[in-house]
Amino acid sequence: MATVSTPSLAATPKRSGKRDSAEIECLVERLLRQVDRPLTAYEIVELAARYGHSIVPMQVYRTMARLSEQGRVLRLESVKAYLLAKPGTDLFLVCGGCKAVKRVSMPSLSSALSQLRHRASFRSIRIPVEVHGECNACRDQKDRQSAVPSIDRIADR
Ligand SMILES: [Zn+2]
Repeated sequence: MATVSTPSLAATPKRSGKRDSAEIECLVERLLRQVDRPLTAYEIVELAARYGHSIVPMQVYRTMARLSEQGRVLRLESVKAYLLAKPGTDLFLVCGGCKAVKRVSMPSLSSALSQLRHRASFRSIRIPVEVHGECNACRDQKDRQSAVPSIDRIADR
């Protein structure tokens, strides 16, 4: 039976030291694809190290600058983290509690912002837009905490 080799994130033992930019671009994209959540430059460095790749934050910043110029990654300014760019994302919902990020497709928003760009002669409108709030999981957790009487209150009885 033929074995199918899957691309591995593990470093090739023979290669070490200086990595070329294409190699780092490839690594960073694979890491972002694997975790499917926004990663900061330092998280990328840590994750890369776990797979045996030694890179420094400056290499990540340079790589991200190139990849975002090419429209391959996005930087979420509010959480200072990077995500793979996916077509059809108009909006990101960012939870202030757990920092979870949800992609939302909302073409009407993008077209409204495009109109605004023309009408207001305001060029630097960034799409996707980041919207901040609280995810259901965080809200449920808060509700549960406020519903349970604290130990102090029980002791008072
Ligand atoms: Zn949350």
